[in-house]
Amino acid sequence: MPISRFCHACKNTREVQYFLKIEGYTFGRKDDCIDCCYKKKYIKSAALKEKIAKYQKEYHIKNRKILTKKKVDKNRKNKSIRLSANLASNCNYVLKRNSSDSLIFKYIGLDLIELRKYLESLFKPGMTWKNYGRGGWHIDHNTQNKI
Ligand SMILES: [Zn+2]
Repeated sequence: MPISRFCHACKNTREVQYFLKIEGYTFGRKDDCIDCCYKKKYIKSAALKEKIAKYQKEYHIKNRKILTKKKVDKNRKNKSIRLSANLASNCNYVLKRNSSDSLIFKYIGLDLIELRKYLESLFKPGMTWKNYGRGGWHIDHNTQNKI
């Protein structure tokens, strides 16, 4: 049995222990080294992920009306979800537009300046008002969101 073997994928000669043992192959070892086998598996996996993401995107575009209707119906039936979504939406609106004339302040017991100062006190390094929202940080809840 040879000490080294030629890898057909990376075209390098490596020690035989870098080749997986499989019956039926020459000298009972795979033709590609173990690193190349993992790379191929990873590439297949990434290609599959891409294929699934593409399918999901197409499905969402194709069934957008049905999916939106389902979401609206769900929100109408479940008052907690509706209230939670409305409060979150309202909170985002006032913070983005610096609008202080909203009913949200009546419910949370703070005015806009106090709310901003409170949120700023929770900032972690890298968090600013400029990167608030999409692609940046969000307001989330510490406990499960049920009323
Ligand atoms: Zn190789």
